[in-house]
Amino acid sequence: MPLYTNTVVIGAGLTGLTTAHYLNNSKIDFLVLEQKPLIGGAIQTESDKGFTYEKGPSTGVMSNDTVAELFAELKPYCKLERAADSVNKRYILKNAEWTPLPSGVLSGIFTPLFTWQDKLRILGEPFRKPGTNPNESLAEFVKRRMGNSFLDYAIDPFILGVYAGNPAYLVPRFALPKLYNLEQKYGSLIGGSIKMKREKAKQFPKQTKDKGNRIFSAEGGLSQLTAALNESAGKNNFLLGVSQLSIIPIENGFRISGVNSDGKDLEIVANKVITTVGAHQLAELLPFVNKKTMQKVDNLVYAKVVQITVGFNEWKGFPLDAFGGLIPFKEKHDSLGVLFPSAFLKNRAPHGGALLSVFMGGVRRPEMIKKSDEELKGIVAKEICSLMGISTFKPDLFKIFRYQEAIPQYGADCEARFTTLDELAKQYPNLIIGGNLRDGIGMADRIQQGKKLAEEAKKENLEFQTKNLEPQVEAVELES
Ligand SMILES: Cc1cc2nc3c(=O)[nH]c(=O)nc-3n(C[C@H](O)[C@H](O)[C@H](O)COP(=O)(O)OP(=O)(O)OC[C@H]3O[C@@H](n4cnc5c(N)ncnc54)[C@H](O)[C@@H]3O)c2cc1C
Repeated sequence: MPLYTNTVVIGAGLTGLTTAHYLNNSKIDFLVLEQKPLIGGAIQTESDKGFTYEKGPSTGVMSNDTVAELFAELKPYCKLERAADSVNKRYILKNAEWTPLPSGVLSGIFTPLFTWQDKLRILGEPFRKPGTNPNESLAEFVKRRMGNSFLDYAIDPFILGVYAGNPAYLVPRFALPKLYNLEQKYGSLIGGSIKMKREKAKQFPKQTKDKGNRIFSAEGGLSQLTAALNESAGKNNFLLGVSQLSIIPIENGFRISGVNSDGKDLEIVANKVITTVGAHQLAELLPFVNKKTMQKVDNLVYAKVVQITVGFNEWKGFPLDAFGGLIPFKEKHDSLGVLFPSAFLKNRAPHGGALLSVFMGGVRRPEMIKKSDEELKGIVAKEICSLMGISTFKPDLFKIFRYQEAIPQYGADCEARFTTLDELAKQYPNLIIGGNLRDGIGMADRIQQGKKLAEEAKKENLEFQTKNLEPQVEAVELES
């Protein structure tokens, strides 16, 4: 006999967990199915030898109100940690030297990161015409508005830090929609930011300023957040370690089959299914969608990332007074950057020690993921000694984590992907496809999407009808 539930959520990463939290708030009957034996997806905090480190993301940006709202709801289970203000300082490597990224007009004028020609060019930015190509690459967009040196020493390292990506591939309309909209709505990035701030102040005159830094984690690490979501959503609503999941539409819902963690067959009948898995994991889950259609969805490029955690009981190098240092592609280094988590998060390293996070790979250096542990250790030793002011490399903690599909790259192909997803949604309104293939890659985006997915599941929440459960296996054929 199959299990019956109203909604099945596939994946217990941050998106699936947030969806589950809000489904539980709405008293909807649901089950979360996760292939791994543990929750959290990319978010995994570990503690060892006095260090607390993240295997995946280390901090998020509170770019929407849902993050603070969620932490407030999770208060009994976990506490929001706002990063120390040192996080606002970021170093950029230029000619083998760390230079702080300018934070104001004066530092912007005198920074050696940008050429004088581009500094003058930036003054003219508000008067430049908006672009007309909606699929213009980020590199072209920035060159057109701000100049080459701004692209190489501000946007390129920023994109390496966020997307491990290539500005020549990413399309602002999809990858940085706020930036794109500033140009489209106000005609200028600088003028648009000023106007937007004024409009907000007028609209919400009494709104008190958000206190504390917008860079966030959870006290004790991000796994505290995912564990709290698991707790608040009800641990009994989660089935972990399930494999070979496959979804088939039936009348009024879906039949989900797979194998339980104990090797027994699993069969669930649900009114609605929400997927939160990556694009590359969808085809196996949705065998009723034909290959040609699915290709427009699962051709999404993911950056490969190697994240290396390095801990020192006693730190004798370069003062760690910033978020970290980013290395522009032009500087031709093997690392993309080094973050200093112990400099802005509490209790991440023993007193007087340091926790560093070095990352490598990305879309322009995918071969780095194939390097052996020994090779990677050699590279990190060289990079840290030359860039961080230490003479010998003797870390007290050294861990390597490799991600084959770390960060999705929102390029021009998003247009066809979103059209296909919309067509699928029309054809199967009770199949809700979420996950990082749309709506943003950061943790705040995932939290916001998780809430939205739960709201969509609430719509027209018809009582599940158990009659006529024969699969409707007609394959979907969409217009190309
Ligand atoms: C190395 C790395 C560093 C990052 N750094 C940052 C950062 O600093 N700041 C930031 O904001 N974001 C960062 N991100 C992005 C952020 O981690 C993600 O956006 C977020 O955690 C993704 O959550 P998710 O639930 O959408 O996906 P995931 O965490 O990938 O969760 C998806 C879940 O679905 C499960 N699943 C997949 N297929 C199936 C299946 N067939 N059946 C059942 N279960 C399945 C997976 O096992 C997984 O648990 C980073 C990501 C990586 C990989």
